[in-house]
Amino acid sequence: MSLANGLSYLAIPGPSVMPERVLRAMHRSAPNIYHGELPELVPGIVERLKTVARTSAHVAMYITNGHGAWEAAAANVFSPGDLVLVLATGRFAEGWADIARAMGVETEILDYGKCDTIDLDQVRDRLRADDGRIKAIMVVQTDTSTGIRNDIAALRAVIDETGHDALFMVDCMASLGCDRFEMDAWGVDVMIAGSQKGLMTPPGLGFVYFSDKADRARETARCVTHYWDWRPRVDPDYFYRYFDGTAPTHHLYGLDEAIRMIEEEGLENVWTRHAALAQAIWAAFDHWGSGGPLEINITDPALRSHSVTALRVGSDKATALRQWCETKAGLTLGIGLGMAEPGAPEWHNFFRIGHMGHVNAQMILGALATIEAGLKAVELPHTSGGIERAAAVIADLA
Ligand SMILES: *Cc1c(COP(=O)(O)O)cnc(C)c1O
Repeated sequence: MSLANGLSYLAIPGPSVMPERVLRAMHRSAPNIYHGELPELVPGIVERLKTVARTSAHVAMYITNGHGAWEAAAANVFSPGDLVLVLATGRFAEGWADIARAMGVETEILDYGKCDTIDLDQVRDRLRADDGRIKAIMVVQTDTSTGIRNDIAALRAVIDETGHDALFMVDCMASLGCDRFEMDAWGVDVMIAGSQKGLMTPPGLGFVYFSDKADRARETARCVTHYWDWRPRVDPDYFYRYFDGTAPTHHLYGLDEAIRMIEEEGLENVWTRHAALAQAIWAAFDHWGSGGPLEINITDPALRSHSVTALRVGSDKATALRQWCETKAGLTLGIGLGMAEPGAPEWHNFFRIGHMGHVNAQMILGALATIEAGLKAVELPHTSGGIERAAAVIADLA
């Protein structure tokens, strides 16, 4: 029997759940892109996007996904032969590095594996030893494959200690609108994000935030092309230059509404909600895993993302669990990403749960109770009662 009919929950780490309000804002006929409501809406969206990242820097918008935002960011600051220091804590920093390398940029990767954060001492030593070649440092705030959350402020402090003037480039695809991020206070020069995670809007919009210092690098960057150039997009003489062509009309209506929802709740409250829900999730998994093979990939709670949790189950039963939750109960969990090669037997040992954007206590408690049922149904070894731990956290924090 299946009990999946009803409201489903897509608990993968992007695209995230779309609020009814966002869907309704998008459900309309096409607007005029030359004058009127839509062109008038866009400058305000740009300003409000800055608020979400706590910055007064520039924001260039692109019709693209995260990969396109990666490419846009790299194209505007690099020339072939430049050296970039990549601090890798999972699959996503590697992905950004691949894109830079394809442009002829040299990438030096400090790899911290799949369960750990950046070694700040090593970064300090590497920057001190640099002979002025490192043009930029690229890092991911929340790595969506491992569930790690890197301390961006601490990294900035280390860069400052060394006096190195490398550009500080941060991928906030999975953390903007979920985890605290303070672009100006943390001295970030380039930040990338997209519409489809914490911003609760369908995939299709990529954002590149950049400081004046980054824009000075744009002056000499030879990787930049007409389409990816961020300059016309932040200072357009005609409306079409915001997107170098037709604007993503309906995405803009959706994004406008999504940002309004964040504004109504308050950014600090949005962050606090994500933190509280994450604690409930950890409480459940830590209990289920006590004395058994199931475990959260990141051991130290201080290093865990508040928007995505990666799990290792110690056997090939993660796939069965995901399938059970989806087909029997209407809960879609994320595949393990970057933890094992696709096709290898170990690929089935991992899964993730996305808890970003439009999520609340009843959704998380429902998802966790479903997972506990699934653990029993597929006979994945666990200590019963994790859902009670999660309920206690919610009762305590709400
Ligand atoms: C989702 C994600 C990306 C890539 O986004 P796509 O839209 O899949 O190209 C990049 N970085 C991080 C941290 C992400 O979570």
